[in-house]
Amino acid sequence: MKKHICNNCGCSIQPGALFYNCRTEIISGFDNYIPDEEEEGDELIKEACANMTGRSPEELSAQVYEEISFVLCPTCLQKFRKQLLGLQVNRLNKDKILLFPPRV
Ligand SMILES: [Zn+2]
Repeated sequence: MKKHICNNCGCSIQPGALFYNCRTEIISGFDNYIPDEEEEGDELIKEACANMTGRSPEELSAQVYEEISFVLCPTCLQKFRKQLLGLQVNRLNKDKILLFPPRV
C-alpha cells in the first residue's frame, strides 16, 4: 500500500485515513484581440521573442499551461479552499468551488 504524505505540512497520512488529491490547471487566457496594424503585430512578435530568450522550454510551457497535482491532509485542504475561495475575482456557485469564467 502506498504511503501518502501531505504535500503542504508534510504529515504522514495513516492507511485508511482521509486525504485529498488536488489538481490545479493554470491555462493562459486569450481575449481574441489580434492587432490590425502590421507594425503593431511585428512589435508584439519581437516582444514575445525577447521574452523567450534565456528561458527553458519548461518555463515557457508553464506560461501557457501548467498542471499541478498534490496530496493534502484534511486540515491543509481547508486552508487551500479558504485561499481559493478568498480570491475576489471568483464567485461561488452551488455545485462548483470556483465559477469559470468569473461573473462580475
Ligand atoms: Zn497537511
